[in-house]
Amino acid sequence: MSHRSPEQSLLAGTLTTFRRRCGKPSCRCAAGDPHETPALRYTEGGRTKLITLAAADVAEVAAALARYQQARAALDAAAAEGVAALQSRLAARRAGSRA
Ligand SMILES: [Zn+2]
Repeated sequence: MSHRSPEQSLLAGTLTTFRRRCGKPSCRCAAGDPHETPALRYTEGGRTKLITLAAADVAEVAAALARYQQARAALDAAAAEGVAALQSRLAARRAGSRA
């Protein structure tokens, strides 16, 4: 299995913020705002999963998500071209058989 470098890696999912109370009675979160941690939400086998991130990881994850979106848009465009090409080949064949 080959691994892409971080500069090339792809990620499908969304960046989100994971909020939680740590459970320590003396912590500020017991009465106030919960702790907030950046996280990647993604689905695997139909289940939503969450990976909590360090703040330093967010930019890299966001870039990998953007690369995935670009790659998917390019694939979708190529597939649409494929449909158009197939339709024009079939139309040309029908026109040819009539001649
Ligand atoms: Zn806490």
